[in-house]
Amino acid sequence: MIARIKKRLLSLLPLRSLRARIFVLILAVGIIPSVLMRYGIVENYEERAVEQRVNAVQNQMKILASHLISNNYLNHDRPEEQTYRNSREVIDAELELLSNLYEGRVMIIDSSFKVVRDTYEISEGKIMISEEVIRCFQGENISHYDSAHGYIEMTTPIVDTRAAAQPGETGVIRGVMLTSISSDSIVSTMEILNRKALILEALMIMAIFALAIVLSIVLTRPFNRVTEAINEVQAGYSDESISVPDYVETVHIVDAFNQLIERMRVLDDSRQEFVANVSHELKTPMASMKVLADSLMAQEDVPAQLYREFMEDIVSEIDRENQIITDLLALVKMDKKVQDLNIVSLNINDLTELILKRLRPLARKKDVEVVFESLRPVVAEVDEVKMTLIMTNLVENAIKYNKNHGWVKVVLDADHQFFTFQVSDSGIGIPEDALSHIYERFYRVDKSHSREIGGTGLGLAITKSAVLMHRGSITVTSTEGEGTSFLVKIPLMYIAQ
Ligand code: ADP
Repeated sequence: MIARIKKRLLSLLPLRSLRARIFVLILAVGIIPSVLMRYGIVENYEERAVEQRVNAVQNQMKILASHLISNNYLNHDRPEEQTYRNSREVIDAELELLSNLYEGRVMIIDSSFKVVRDTYEISEGKIMISEEVIRCFQGENISHYDSAHGYIEMTTPIVDTRAAAQPGETGVIRGVMLTSISSDSIVSTMEILNRKALILEALMIMAIFALAIVLSIVLTRPFNRVTEAINEVQAGYSDESISVPDYVETVHIVDAFNQLIERMRVLDDSRQEFVANVSHELKTPMASMKVLADSLMAQEDVPAQLYREFMEDIVSEIDRENQIITDLLALVKMDKKVQDLNIVSLNINDLTELILKRLRPLARKKDVEVVFESLRPVVAEVDEVKMTLIMTNLVENAIKYNKNHGWVKVVLDADHQFFTFQVSDSGIGIPEDALSHIYERFYRVDKSHSREIGGTGLGLAITKSAVLMHRGSITVTSTEGEGTSFLVKIPLMYIAQ
């Protein structure tokens, strides 16, 4: 289910190519942080610049506030007094200076919320009741930055420390200074900074873009080399094993491919060998027939008796040719898939009896005694035709490769999982070095002897294939000159794969 969804998502993505993915990945990894960095630097600068500006102005305002108090600026009982007028002028000048310096407006509001001084001279004498002013009278310093309109607004309390009743108290708030200053200089510095960062960012993006192109090409090149090498092998330019050692991954792919090629080569070789063997085996009886026929043709007035003898020889060669073809067909059928098995529940004791009955005439010819020992009744799930082939081949061989007056013993046994079928004989035996070859197609220990007794060299190859199809095993023990014993072990219940 998950795999299906993944496949669907992948098919929706236009990024099926590894090169495109690497390119996008590098681009994303390079560009996103640089954009975030520029944004972070500019934002951070703005925050810090506003904070610094507020602190500087607040300090100035606090100094001014203490001047206001010391000069009784807010409530002087004799405003017409010369000294008061002088100090007021000084403070006004100070106010003017500050408002010019910070491009701002300062309003001084007394405890009855009346604006006693406005550097813009617009609101003087008016009543100013705003949330900020009220909160400042309650002892809260407020600063507020309006980036949209480009100004910073703050309040500073005018504290009369002389009126502190107790030593721990700070004093009485006599008035409030409402200051608003322009943040244009901050904004313009920010713009310059932003522009520089943008140029840097553009340069970085270009560099990352170039890097992404180069890396996506370079990093995927080994995979192209793998494809090229495989194509070369496929086109037949090279039959050597390929090597692309750039990445562990390419090494794995290439190793797997080389193994596959090697297996194909082995298969191809064995197929060629098989075809050569088949042709040779089929040609031999043909050649004999031709020799026989030619010699008949070469003579005139051949006596009927000789004719008959030659014809009998020709018939036996035809029989042999037939036998080889029948065996070959049986072998080809074995090579087909396992589903060709026709599994039925079969009484193996009965089957063995039947096969031995068929082969007894052959045994009688050599005066070979065939003994059947059944240790228990066996019923197993097998393919009847193939099981018959297995048993017939083994018993037939035991008779064929026996000495005159010898014996063949067939023992049938079973446990809860397998049944065993053992064929022992008192025959000529198999040399040790030949034991590992006897299951090969067309292999015969003694070619001429085997041919004499009608062997094709395919019997055991067929037997082994049939045993393996039943998920069984076949083993052989033999002593030259004494005899041979084949043991076949097959599961009682057929296990489908
Ligand atoms: P063939 O058709 O020649 O009998 P097989 O494949 O059945 O071919 O056997 C291969 C070879 O193994 C035989 O040619 C023979 O030399 C040897 N062999 C098989 N079974 C026996 C046996 N019971 N005793 C001795 N040799 C045997």
